[in-house]
Amino acid sequence: MRLLLVEDEKKIAAFARKGLVEAGFNVLVCHRGDDALQLATTERFDALVLDIMLPGRDGLSVLRQLREQRNNVPVILLTARGGLSERVEGLNLGADDYLTKPFSVEELIARLRAVWRRLTGEGLSLLQFEDLTLSVTTREVRRGSRKIELTAREFALLEFLMRSPGRVYTRTQLCEHVWDYHFDPGTNLVDVGIQRLRRKVDDGHAIPLVQTVRGVGYTLKAGA
Ligand code: CA
Repeated sequence: MRLLLVEDEKKIAAFARKGLVEAGFNVLVCHRGDDALQLATTERFDALVLDIMLPGRDGLSVLRQLREQRNNVPVILLTARGGLSERVEGLNLGADDYLTKPFSVEELIARLRAVWRRLTGEGLSLLQFEDLTLSVTTREVRRGSRKIELTAREFALLEFLMRSPGRVYTRTQLCEHVWDYHFDPGTNLVDVGIQRLRRKVDDGHAIPLVQTVRGVGYTLKAGA
């Protein structure tokens, strides 16, 4: 997800940016309202996190301009405590949600995901587990900010595991659901598929996600 974070308080911008990047978002920060409007009209973002009190042009004015240009990019407003009238105005202008300062990055991420889910149909198209994300629509897979290239079968396998993290699947189940074999092909097809997937997903990361449950099968789980 590519975000434009518009916040003139540099400390808040830096801490929010850090948390968002760690969660796998691609974040561009700008500090002025006029710059934000310029960027949002010329580049594509999946969402804007927009402070209201900004130099250049305030956040509500940026939002109003965008909506007048029929730009429906999701917008989450950052508002000051007690700013009821500006929150109401922001929602009326077409903001998707708002957060009151001070806010936690976790909450901001949860709001962003909720907005995204609403827009894309119950979140079926963006799967997320830990720092791993898989978009069913764009077929893009990322671990943190690292893009992972998968074959169609590896993608299907990962998608299947990501739909129920923590659930353990036997080889037979994976064979049926991912390879569509309703019989035992008598090969180590699944094991090889899992090994390849694990290499692409987990190599170079401290926390492995594609896990073997000895004697049972495989699951998606964080840690040893
Ligand atoms: Ca501000």
